[in-house]
Amino acid sequence: QAKAQGRARICHFEPAMQARVAWRLEMEQALRRALLAGELALHYQPQVDERERLVGVEALLRWTHPDHGVVSPGVFIAIAEESDLIVELETWVLDSCCALLARQSEACLPRLSVNISARHFAQPEFVETLMRLLEAHRVDPGRLTVELTESIMIDSLDAAAERMRALKALGARIALDDFGTGFSSLSYLKRLPLDELKIDRSFVSDIETDASDAAIVETVLAMARHLKLAVVAEGVENAAQLTFLAARGCRCFQGFHFHRPMPEPALARLLGERVQVPPSA
Ligand code: C2E
Ligand code: MG
Ligand code: MG
Ligand code: MG
Repeated sequence: QAKAQGRARICHFEPAMQARVAWRLEMEQALRRALLAGELALHYQPQVDERERLVGVEALLRWTHPDHGVVSPGVFIAIAEESDLIVELETWVLDSCCALLARQSEACLPRLSVNISARHFAQPEFVETLMRLLEAHRVDPGRLTVELTESIMIDSLDAAAERMRALKALGARIALDDFGTGFSSLSYLKRLPLDELKIDRSFVSDIETDASDAAIVETVLAMARHLKLAVVAEGVENAAQLTFLAARGCRCFQGFHFHRPMPEPALARLLGERVQVPPSA
């Protein structure tokens, strides 16, 4: 009887597992086709200073599946990261972003940030490919910020630091994204050639009510000042959060309180300049 039950349970379990594996496989295949099918798009979320002037934008990847509709980047980025598909996707992102920077003057759009996955960053060709793209579009590398997460240091801090120095030599800026959510050790901060820390949204959301979140944010801002790192506060959703952050020296903000991520035409309107959007192929 127990055996029969066990078997029944296994039988009940396996199809679900199989379904999950099949679903992931199906999504991976669909994602491979998505690039060619034009289902991928970039949205841009402005970053502003304390006077709400735009200082840059972050490029965020979007996928609209023909049957499943909008798929969250939290889902499809994870699937892409299981193979070198992420390299293909993010190379397209980098190319599109360089093209946007070339279309917009530095006065209109000073800076643009792109998210690069740890797997992609670990590729030996990464820095050279980026250099090629910047040159092809004749874009000043200093206008591009590469956002990396703490996961780039999982294997080796030294290897990550070395690759980051190559990226710095190229002239690009480097930001540490989602700061505080990874396996943080503060000692590595001075060993990495960073320009910017992005305080994760999870610390900002309860900043007024959660004393420990408030303390963490205050500490990060003070530390960044000593290390001469720029700070961007992510996920600022209301004026109270902005006031709290600004009072503690934060000078750059990103969040729904200012702007949601938007497609390029809306961004172009915001920048107050008509841009030539290339016709889709
Ligand atoms: P992220 O890099 O930390 O990007 C910020 C995320 O926070 C975006 O979510 C943005 O829409 C959201 N956000 C911004 N302001 C607010 C706010 O005030 N409130 C709330 N609730 N959310 C806010 P999104 O676009 O869903 O992207 C999620 C994550 O997907 C990104 O987090 C990033 O880690 C990843 N991602 C997106 N595009 C790429 C990409 O091209 N490459 C890689 N590796 N990851 C990407
Ligand atoms: Mg980011
Ligand atoms: Mg982030
Ligand atoms: Mg995030």
